[in-house]
Amino acid sequence: MSDIIHLLPDSVANQIAAGEVIQRPASVLKELVENSIDAGATHIQVIIKDAGRTLLQVTDNGKGMSETDARMAFERHATSKIKVANDLFSLRTMGFRGEALASIAAVAQVEMKTRRAEDELGVAIEIAGTRVFKHEPVSCAEGTSILVKNLFFNVPARRRFLKSDNVEKSHILNEFYRVVLVYPGIVFSFFDGDEELLHLPQANIKQRIEHVFGKSSKRNWQQQLLLVETSTNLVKIHGYAGKPEFAQKAANQYFFVNGRYMRHPYFHKAVMMAYHQLIPPTEGPHYFIYFEVDPDTIDINIHPTKTEIKFENEQAIWSILSAAVKESLGKFNVAPSIDFDTEGMPDIPVHRNDDNIRPPRTTFNPEYNPFSSSSYKRTDINWESLYKGFEKQEDTPTPFSGEITVFDETEEDKHPALFGGNEVKNRNYQFKNQYIISGIKSGLMMIDQHRAHVKIMYETYRRQIEKRQGASQQLLFPEKLELNVSDRLLFDRIKAGLQYTGFDFSESDGLITIAGIPSGYNSSDAVSFISRVMDKIRELDTETPGDTSGLIAAELAESAAIRNGQPLTDVEMDDLIDRLFACEDYNYTPDGKKIFIVVETTEIEKRFIHGTSDY
Ligand code: ADP
Ligand code: MG
Repeated sequence: MSDIIHLLPDSVANQIAAGEVIQRPASVLKELVENSIDAGATHIQVIIKDAGRTLLQVTDNGKGMSETDARMAFERHATSKIKVANDLFSLRTMGFRGEALASIAAVAQVEMKTRRAEDELGVAIEIAGTRVFKHEPVSCAEGTSILVKNLFFNVPARRRFLKSDNVEKSHILNEFYRVVLVYPGIVFSFFDGDEELLHLPQANIKQRIEHVFGKSSKRNWQQQLLLVETSTNLVKIHGYAGKPEFAQKAANQYFFVNGRYMRHPYFHKAVMMAYHQLIPPTEGPHYFIYFEVDPDTIDINIHPTKTEIKFENEQAIWSILSAAVKESLGKFNVAPSIDFDTEGMPDIPVHRNDDNIRPPRTTFNPEYNPFSSSSYKRTDINWESLYKGFEKQEDTPTPFSGEITVFDETEEDKHPALFGGNEVKNRNYQFKNQYIISGIKSGLMMIDQHRAHVKIMYETYRRQIEKRQGASQQLLFPEKLELNVSDRLLFDRIKAGLQYTGFDFSESDGLITIAGIPSGYNSSDAVSFISRVMDKIRELDTETPGDTSGLIAAELAESAAIRNGQPLTDVEMDDLIDRLFACEDYNYTPDGKKIFIVVETTEIEKRFIHGTSDY
């Protein structure tokens, strides 16, 4: 039998290589635009037709190519950018493999015109499926224009694999964004057929973000972006993070390192950590964050379509990033202002059987302390259940009673503007035993009573943990919890937090004996409570350094808070509202649910104006 091994013809080899580099029209766009940038262009124009299937053209005013280079450019591993393997590590250009043009030419029909400044005539090349059809002088503008037609014309399987025009177009735009966000100094324009979808003038980063995304969202991006900036030995971070109220389901989230787009799920968590509690869990903040690091400390993925990058100092950068974003959020007052409307306040009728019409209260009773049993007692209301367990109980005295003072001063003292000084207090109305409705300056505010109370209790527990002053009540029968080896490590992380809230336990060889639980906590499920907290921590990335006391406080608050369906009196509602708005952040529950909504007056007015007889 004769020998059977032979070298693949170039056309086949290139087609195979192309499979890796060129997966869809978006890959063509990326490669061509990166080449234009590497060629020093200051103006780059992109035109696509049929989502890049039939045509994709990139024209630049870069340095162009000589007649020979123009032909060489289409050879595999032909590049002007690196000479030896070592150069890979000091890369300053976008492309370096010398594969892109060869790959594109292997699976499409390509027409190129290019001219250097010093040449009078340029060169035109036509090439399809690696075969050169034309190579001749041409008079053309300085720079390079590459037209890619009928992508995958010779690879039907690939062609069929492409998605709908809309999907392919959004892939193309995404690649485009990843590049234009790094080069705000370059003017870009993007045409879909005859329509100019984007025109991006020379700008700074912040303006570039607005030019790219501002059109579709109508919001004022400039005002919504907070500067994130920090500089350390390990990393320089510069960029922008969106204000929390600007978060949305499909947020624009971009990381770049040394001028390249990257995906980094771990760093993403660092950003999310900073927004913890500020946005609902289903939404994400916008961010555009640029890292500069010593190239020796990262491993750029050599694979052309992969965007993950490994960092040598990942943990440290994680913390630096999270702190930088937190600081930016902190500098700007994240809480929207809530102005209670005391003048021209809407007169909401309050229909309650036990509600006698009372004269408007003009002041707070500074003595009033909901936790001391003597300050307020009324048998026909369910007041105690609000603070179940925190009250002194006759038969089981707890060291707790009277000891927690939530406020040292009345809320009015602290927030005179919020509550309108000594003016008439607002009236509230409870709807469906679940929502408290209240008039505020900008409209009607509706508060979810359970969530509000969860938040209040959460902060109370957090304070206890911080001050290490949680009180415990002893269990009649100690509960036991057995931990396996990996659970023991988890338990170690929450031990202190549990003790500070009032859990009292002893530990021996993985067996936890719980003798006391926080006052106010329902004793029947101390074990399941601890298991729940451990499950939550397990769910989170275990690598993530984080504080477990928040989790413990959130779990305790959830079980201690009043339920929906619970009728509340005016006094209780007032108190709940006062205490809610005394919280550090009153917008979201610990797990990110909205605590209240505001229906704007303008919205109400609009509905009355447009309300015809159809309504
Ligand atoms: P790489 O970018 O990895 O070097 P490519 O296949 O993308 O490989 O390009 C091959 C070579 O062609 C480049 O190294 C560059 O010298 C030249 N080239 C490609 N596009 C342009 C352009 N728009 N302007 C000038 N030169 C270009
Ligand atoms: Mg390239």
